[in-house]
Amino acid sequence: MSPDTTTQHAPKAPALWDISPPVDAHTPAFPGDTPYQQQWVATLGPGCPVNVGAITLSPHLGAHADAPLHYDPQGQAVGALDLAPFIGPCRVIHAIAPGPLVMPHHLAHALTAPLPPRVLVRTYQRMPQREWDAGLSAFAPDTVTQLADLGVVLVGIDTASVDPADSKTLDSHQVLRQRHLRVLENLVLDDVPEGDYELIALPLKLMTADASPVRAVLRALTPALASAPTLAPAIPAASLATATSPAAESPDHSQ
Ligand SMILES: [Zn+2]
Repeated sequence: MSPDTTTQHAPKAPALWDISPPVDAHTPAFPGDTPYQQQWVATLGPGCPVNVGAITLSPHLGAHADAPLHYDPQGQAVGALDLAPFIGPCRVIHAIAPGPLVMPHHLAHALTAPLPPRVLVRTYQRMPQREWDAGLSAFAPDTVTQLADLGVVLVGIDTASVDPADSKTLDSHQVLRQRHLRVLENLVLDDVPEGDYELIALPLKLMTADASPVRAVLRALTPALASAPTLAPAIPAASLATATSPAAESPDHSQ
C-alpha cells in the first residue's frame, strides 16, 4: 500500500482564489444573450508573424459587473464607474441551496461586525460553469436592502442574476439602482470557505457598455488590509444586531 501523502501534508490555503468561470464558446449565456464567438483575423504562417482574434460576446458572460445602464436608461455605462467598490475587503457568505431567493435569514449567521463593504454570496454546491441554470437562486429585494443598510457597496453572487431568470420587474436590480450598489454575477465560490478576503474584480473601461467581464479573484487578507478603513463608516455592533433581528424594522433611507 502506498502511504497516504494527503494526510501528511495538509493542503495550504491558496494565496489567491480565482473566482471566475472559464469564458469560451461553451460558457452558458442568459437565454437570448450573445454567446462567445471568436474568429481569426490573422493566423501565424509564412508572411504573418502573429495570431489575432476577433471576439463577440454578451458582456454578461462569465464573471461580470452590471452597470446602471443595464437597468436604468439614464444610468452610467460600465467604463464610467468608480473602481473603488470593486477592490478591497469583502466577506464570502454561504447560503447553499436557499431555494429561489436568498432571504435575509440565509445571511444572518455571517453578518457580524465589522462587516466589510463588499459581500459575496455562494448559493451553489458546484456552480454550473458549462450549462445554463433556469432555476438559479436570486436575491430577495429585502436582502439587498438590508446589505445596503449595513453599509455594503458591492454585492456578488455565484448565479447569473440577482433576480430570478424569468423576472420581468427585476426587483433586486431596482434596489441596486436606488441604493447605488455595484454588483458582480456568475462568480465561482465553490472552493472558497466562508470568511473575509480582499476582492479584486475590475471591470474594463468600456465607455458605452451595460456590463463588463471581470477577472475576479480573492486574496487572503493581510493584517494591514484587515484593519484598513472601509469605504463605509464602521457599522456599530448594535445596529447589526438590530438589522439581523427579524422583528426589527430597518430604517427607510430611500428618498
Ligand atoms: Zn449581468
